[in-house]
Amino acid sequence: MSFSSDIIEWYNKHHRHLPWRETDNPYYIWISEIILQQTRVVQAISYYHDLITHFPSVEDMAQASEESILQLWQGLGYYSRARNLHATAREIAHKHHGTFPASYHDLLALKGVGPYTAAAIASFAFNLPHPVIDGNVMRVLSRYIGISDPINSSKGKKLIHDALSALFDNNNPANFNQAIMELGALICKPTSPDCDYCPVRSECFARNHGCVDILPVKSKKKPARNRYLHYWVIENQGNYLLHRRTANDIWKNLHEFLLIESPVPLTEFDILNANPIHPDIVLSKPDFVHHQIHQLTHQTLYVQFYHLHTMHFEPKNDFFWVKEYELKNYSMPILLRRFTDKYLI
Ligand code: SF4
Repeated sequence: MSFSSDIIEWYNKHHRHLPWRETDNPYYIWISEIILQQTRVVQAISYYHDLITHFPSVEDMAQASEESILQLWQGLGYYSRARNLHATAREIAHKHHGTFPASYHDLLALKGVGPYTAAAIASFAFNLPHPVIDGNVMRVLSRYIGISDPINSSKGKKLIHDALSALFDNNNPANFNQAIMELGALICKPTSPDCDYCPVRSECFARNHGCVDILPVKSKKKPARNRYLHYWVIENQGNYLLHRRTANDIWKNLHEFLLIESPVPLTEFDILNANPIHPDIVLSKPDFVHHQIHQLTHQTLYVQFYHLHTMHFEPKNDFFWVKEYELKNYSMPILLRRFTDKYLI
């Protein structure tokens, strides 16, 4: 038996039945892979079903508005993925006449599709011999081969790549890729792997040398950046002041209340004296202030919501009034959505 046949045999008996594994439709597989880039499987399933139900074909997604896709994406974070889905669906509809590209290099040319996603679609949808490398695959191989260089260093990446090329099964690319990722997800887990149930345990370097808990090695990440977001939730008789974020930053194209951001914490006195609307516009004292900490991968957000009342005025720039019951129709970052659901609607 070889590494490939061992893991494929194990996979055939023990894999999870996930909806995107029941299809070879590249459009569905693409959607699932984009969701799974930063999302756990359990959370991904309902979003996957919602997206393919609302947009059963790439043409349907191409014809939809970006806003409708962002609304279905709320809560998943990394909203550039949703914007790229939409842009790519349009590209496929126009440039490829609605037919999904069927080669690794054409897939790689699509917006938001990197080497991992291109290899996943190429192998799962078209059974092409392209190995996938994700966190699960790196962990399995670093333990199985015994790679002690950090897996996020260039040397470690090359060793993983070489090991995978040597073990890869060109005759069963889809099954091999699914099997090695599933082994990492279910057996060769980050902590306390179930080595006694592993189909490749007899040949595994880490198990045979007692270093399962040490591998894989990773270089330290940069600490998360702190950001301080102070939202002015300005109400005029059941209407709220909103605008759309357009900068190349987190939450691009989603909606939010008026924001004052600072690199250091500000006092309530500083914030309420800032009046970013206009000195002539009279604002009430806040009737409540809500504090929240929101963790993103590389950023820690310290968020405050100040709920204030004002007289009516014509908003400037890109701000506009939205009726309270219509807030749900505007795509928002999940922390704002939770705030509006809990305190405003
Ligand atoms: S034997 Fe243990 S450490 Fe080795 S590949 Fe299997 S689960 Fe991972």
